[in-house]
Amino acid sequence: MDGDTPPHARDIQSVRTALGTSFDGLSDEEARRRLERYGKNILEEEEISRFRIFIKQFQDFLIYILMAAAVIALLAADFKDFVVIVALILVNGLIGYWQELKAESSIRALKKLTESRVSVVREGEIRQVPSPEIVHGDVVLLAEGDIVTADIRLYESYGLAVDEATMTGESVPVSKDHQAVLDPGAQPYELANSLLSGTTVVRGSGRGFVVRTGRDTYLAGIAARAQEASPESPFTRAIRDFSMRYAVLIMIILVLVGTVAFLQGRELVGIAYLLVAQLVSAVPAGLPLVVTLVMVVGALALSRKQTLTRHLPSVETLGSATVIASDKTGTITEGRLAVQDDVALDSRALMLAAALCNDAREGTGDPIDVALSRWVGEYGELRERHPRTWVFPFDTAMKLMATANEVDGRRRFFIKGAFEELAKRAENRDDLAALEERLNAMAEGGLRVLAFGAGDWQGEDPDAWRYEIVGLVGFLDPPKDGVRESVITARKAGIRVLMITGDYPLTARAIAGEVAIWKEGESVLTGGEIESMDDDALYAALATATVLARVIPEHKYRVVRVLQDRGEIVAVSGDGVNDVPALKAADLGIAMGSGTEAAKSVAKMVILDNNLRVIVDAIENGRVIVDNVRKVIYYLLSTSISEVVLISTSIFAGFPLPLVPIQILWINLVTDGVQDKMFPFIKEEGDVMRRPPKPPARQFFERRQITRILIFGLVMGMASFLVFEHLIFRFPYETANAIIFTAFAAFQWSNGIQAQKEHEPFFVNIRRSLTINPLIFLSVLIGLVLQLAAIYIVPSWFNAVPLAPEQWGYVALLAVVAFAVVETIKWVEYLADRAAG
Ligand code: ADP
Ligand code: MG
Repeated sequence: MDGDTPPHARDIQSVRTALGTSFDGLSDEEARRRLERYGKNILEEEEISRFRIFIKQFQDFLIYILMAAAVIALLAADFKDFVVIVALILVNGLIGYWQELKAESSIRALKKLTESRVSVVREGEIRQVPSPEIVHGDVVLLAEGDIVTADIRLYESYGLAVDEATMTGESVPVSKDHQAVLDPGAQPYELANSLLSGTTVVRGSGRGFVVRTGRDTYLAGIAARAQEASPESPFTRAIRDFSMRYAVLIMIILVLVGTVAFLQGRELVGIAYLLVAQLVSAVPAGLPLVVTLVMVVGALALSRKQTLTRHLPSVETLGSATVIASDKTGTITEGRLAVQDDVALDSRALMLAAALCNDAREGTGDPIDVALSRWVGEYGELRERHPRTWVFPFDTAMKLMATANEVDGRRRFFIKGAFEELAKRAENRDDLAALEERLNAMAEGGLRVLAFGAGDWQGEDPDAWRYEIVGLVGFLDPPKDGVRESVITARKAGIRVLMITGDYPLTARAIAGEVAIWKEGESVLTGGEIESMDDDALYAALATATVLARVIPEHKYRVVRVLQDRGEIVAVSGDGVNDVPALKAADLGIAMGSGTEAAKSVAKMVILDNNLRVIVDAIENGRVIVDNVRKVIYYLLSTSISEVVLISTSIFAGFPLPLVPIQILWINLVTDGVQDKMFPFIKEEGDVMRRPPKPPARQFFERRQITRILIFGLVMGMASFLVFEHLIFRFPYETANAIIFTAFAAFQWSNGIQAQKEHEPFFVNIRRSLTINPLIFLSVLIGLVLQLAAIYIVPSWFNAVPLAPEQWGYVALLAVVAFAVVETIKWVEYLADRAAG
């Protein structure tokens, strides 16, 4: 924008001309032109170039070591090895490059799905435009719950208030007024007639011109800290840390092996070369990337089930959720209400209150209001005849709304809301007891009941309101299909389901009972009770409570915190601005697709189909994802350890090398290298929702996992050593070595096939064993073809000799033994589990 005076200190007409726009917005053509010319409304171009991704594949500690190995091979005048190693480095790099590109583009596609949208006026029409496409001069419409994504000069505002905590750290809402006159030098936090990018509308509505976008906004100036989390998640970082520690452990073992080998008088260059090859294949360098892929594939699967992931690592958190705290209306129930019953003390007044204290327009609006507008016969006429002069909008904390209307020349006051709230000020106290009895009868039947009041206008102040309760109306809001089954599934899976609602306790309990959330013996906690308890008492009460009624958003936030402080992993659903604190605090904030931008922006996930069933399904998916990560970790580590055991034992026993360096590197490619790519596609094992949740810290390395890895590594390392020992006395070294070379790859393949299922032995439910991931068989086939090519077409490259048919018997033997070892471990665990029930 030209000129020196900033937009907040100019009158709106001059801002408009300077921006070259109008109150009807820009034309599509002009918006496109500006977007091209001035760039997207984002803080930073996050696209990483393909070249950088390619180069990254070679910036890895283990690749450096491999390069060192290539140099050693040259020194040892082993030219063939040099070529093969360089080829392996390149192949590895290309696979990694291709994998990462795929992951990147999937992550970008996922981001696109959850991109925030902004209401703008273009060509005189209201449009929803992705926030990055906003340009200066755009006319933006703002309403409660919207996120401001560019700097805006207002020219209309109605009771507008904004949360500027991201800019000022102050979370008290700040009022905005388009008419405010400001000094050119006003500070960002003094701009009453402007909205700054990064803030949230908490109340009211407004309109304005976009004056600055992207890197020109105030937010960009202080953006470093407001930046999105780096693409490397805490979780992948944890995996990386683990790989590092594991690498150190392996190095210590290898140094020991190297020392022994040296003392035995083996050739120095040969030893160095062997150790390097072993290190490269024993450390699962590809693990962080494979884990990311498992999560990306999982997140894509979730998106097909109406669940969008805004934060990738949360798919893994999903798997360990222990509590679901769900909204009632709309998530558990249909949210499409219909009047079912009523109690009228004064029918005409009740009709007037229902029609006038109401915001429904042409069948849209708050479901309660819509239901009432359908129920009152002459809704339209009543509203036209009795114009509204004042309104107190619905307030979640007071649970009521009120209006003033002209009725037959008099100014009348109408109110509707929660019975207890209305009863506090009602003048017809004698009727209350009888009304409450009727209310409870309706509520016990699962109806949501509202009370209505009417009186003469006394003033705006709630303390001045005068009215009598004139009747009750009961609404039917039936539970959604599938919710009951999902609640039962969740309970079996050890997940507690809490219903959190602003509704009346009896109503909430009746509905909760219908969907199996509440059972005889469990309690209902009210907002009032929550307020009177300290954190410990609250946590204790939550042990038996499944329904939280008459709860306001602050209570919801507190419940989430108290549960989390005591180690629970909480999934919370919400949609409004006032759900933001709870959604933010929760391990897993889940916003509704229909909810506000503010809720979506802090949520880790967004569900498009608002239904508790979708949340439970997502948890099920999350558990499968966690299982798959655990399975790939098992596979990579168990095969590595068997290799380390074989080589170390052979050296300690003073034997010749069972595998030469180039073979070790090759095996790594035809086993891990091909098969770990298939682990993201393992389907669910069948018992995911019949196990209790695992705490996040123990998801990947619990006792069983470690035991399995060690047993497999030790037993198979020793078994292959014994076979080698046997072969070396019967065959020339070259043949013995070539047999072990192929057998080693083969038994890892059978381990890979076994690793697809971890809770069920292969021979229990064979059908599932074969169908849980057909891709694993494909990858074994690829590995086999490569191995056959290596030993029959270019054996000399690998120091190998072609195998005679009967020598394949040894290969088969080790493959079967490996299969049997895992099968035995599984049976022992399986039977132990069954015995334990
Ligand atoms: P829920 O958790 O079911 O969404 P709400 O917070 O929407 O509950 O509503 C809480 C209570 O506030 C309701 O039980 C009702 O008494 C009152 N209430 C809800 N909507 C309105 C409305 N539009 N007008 C007046 N009162 C309302
Ligand atoms: Mg509600």
